[in-house]
Order: sequence, then structure tokens, then C-alpha cells
Amino acid sequence: MDWDKIQYEVISTDQIYIMKSSSDGMFTEGKLIPFGTIEINPNSSVLNYGQGLFEGLKAHRRKDGGIQTFRPQENALRMQKGAERLLLVAPSVEQFIHAVKQVVLANQRWLPPYGKGSLYIRPLLFGSGPVMGISPAPEATFLIYTNPIGNKYKGLAGDMHLLIEDKFSRAIPGGTGGIKNISNYSPVFQVTKEAKAKGFSDVLFLDSQEHKYIEEVSSCNVFIVKGNVISTPPATGTILPGITRKSIISIAFDLGYQAKEDRVSVEEIFEADEVFCTGTAVSISPVKSITYQDKRVEFKTGDGTTSMKLFDMIRGIQLGDVEDKNGWTVQID
Ligand SMILES: *Cc1c(COP(=O)(O)O)cnc(C)c1O
Repeated sequence: MDWDKIQYEVISTDQIYIMKSSSDGMFTEGKLIPFGTIEINPNSSVLNYGQGLFEGLKAHRRKDGGIQTFRPQENALRMQKGAERLLLVAPSVEQFIHAVKQVVLANQRWLPPYGKGSLYIRPLLFGSGPVMGISPAPEATFLIYTNPIGNKYKGLAGDMHLLIEDKFSRAIPGGTGGIKNISNYSPVFQVTKEAKAKGFSDVLFLDSQEHKYIEEVSSCNVFIVKGNVISTPPATGTILPGITRKSIISIAFDLGYQAKEDRVSVEEIFEADEVFCTGTAVSISPVKSITYQDKRVEFKTGDGTTSMKLFDMIRGIQLGDVEDKNGWTVQID
């Protein structure tokens, strides 16, 4: 592998982890099987009604050669919350973490060396049993595959240019925008495609009722920095409660910033010193510009910024270079 060349593309690894719920509606034992296509019943609830969830986390190689993941129990708990909402049976936290460890070990030759990238871990949970009426599936499948990814965002090179979307919404109150529902993304494909065709990196969505307050980018959470205060909109159902988001709030607090969850209006974001996005895939990505209708505003990025300090800290913890005072990392080997 030329680890410096890989970015964010499909690279099939050796094994997947798979576990099916038994007839009493519980997960008991899973197994590793060779990576390949899987069979699915045409009547399955996931194909017909989108009864499915996904998760995303990463394994990193430490300097000493060891392997670690970042807060996998949070992913397990978030999957359980989503499963409750979609009436799916979910694996326990122990089953989830055990599966993550197994699948990473089985694919460790695909884990980039220290500092060259990570092994992306994608757990899925879906209704695989057949249904005819509109109802949840009698059987669920939990599956994890992995995919190596490169350092696309190495050194915060990927400054973002965002377009505020004022017509389409990503999530509505009472909907499923607050869980990692597999159907959260297809409704934003068209909107993001159009924004990308105009040269933007992504779309920043507003609340669906007043179209006044920022919510999040299509696949990551958003923060603003103003002086010593770091704010992000509260995750009250229409925003995905990101694990990176939660970790950054805690790190910012430890570094002496005032970190708050509060509504952020479009006017407020234009007055920010810095704006950045957070997510497992992007880590922390600084936002260079935001455009809303005819107005475009630029923000500070690069050396010496708050975004950079937060990025160095979280990346240091994830790679094992900074002491993990909170017990966030889980060793795989
Ligand atoms: C997964 C996701 C995020 C980021 O969550 P992390 O746990 O930090 O990876 C943010 N927004 C959306 C819509 C997501 O699906």
C-alpha cells in the first residue's frame, strides 16, 4: 500500500463481523467472515422501509505500534438510542466493543502506520428479516466492515467553504435527525451536489421552522469561536449528537475556554472569529468562508487559531501522543 496516496475511497479489507438476532429477539454470538457481498431478503424491512442505522469510528496506530480506538462505548450507546427509535434490537455495549476489537484485529494489515491515516470502522444495524405489512423486522443484523482512509485533513489543510441552505431542511423536530439513521443522507445528496457544483465544500443547514438558526453541516457538527467563548447549537433532536462534538466541548473547557451549547443565529455566525466543523471523518475542519444569499464572510484559519489548538489536542489523544486523562481511548491489541 502506498499510504500517502490513499484518501477517502472504497478499499475492501479482509474480514467483516456479522451477528444476527435469534428468534427471541436477542443478539447472542457473532462471527468474522471473509469480506464480500451479503445476501438479503427482498422483503427485508431495511430495503423496503429503511429500518437501519449506521455508526462510524476509527482505529489509529500509535507511535509504539499499538492500536487504539476513540470512545467506542459512545458509538454503542448511540446505536442503542437509535435502535429504540426504530424498534430494532441492538447489541450490548460489550458486544459492540468486542465486535470492534475483533474486526480491527482481523484487518490490521489495512491499518495505516502511525500518522499516515486510520482504519475507518463502519458498524451497521438493520432489519434483515422479511415483512409484508409495514412493521419492524423479526430479525436484525449487526455488521461491521472496515476501510482504510488517508490523512485527507492532515494539518488542517482542508479549509471549508460553506453555503447556508435556506430552502431545504436536513431534519425536523420529532423526526430522526438526532439518530444515525441510514436515511439521513440521501435527502441531502441533491442539495450538497448543487452546492459543490458552485464551488462550495458543503452545505450548512438552518432550523426547519424559522430558517434563522444554524444546525449542522450535512455530515458534521458546527462550532463558532468568539473571543474566549466556543458555542455549538444544542443537540435537541434535529442535530446529530456527535462524539467529536461532545469531546471538543470537554477539551475546550479543560483548555480554559468557555464552552456552551446555545442557539446560534445566522447573524451571530457572521460575527464569529472562527468557525469549525467536527466529526469522526473530518476530525476538526476549519471553515474559511460562509455564504448566505448574497453575503460572504471569511474567518481566521491556520496557525495560532483556537480550532488548531483543539485539533492538536484531540488528534494527540486519538493517536496516543497526549495523555488520555478521561479514559476515552480503548486499546485493541
Ligand atoms: C456522524 C455524524 C456527525 C458526527 O458525529 P461523530 O460522532 O463526531 O462522528 C455529525 N453529523 C451527522 C449528520 C452525522 O451523521
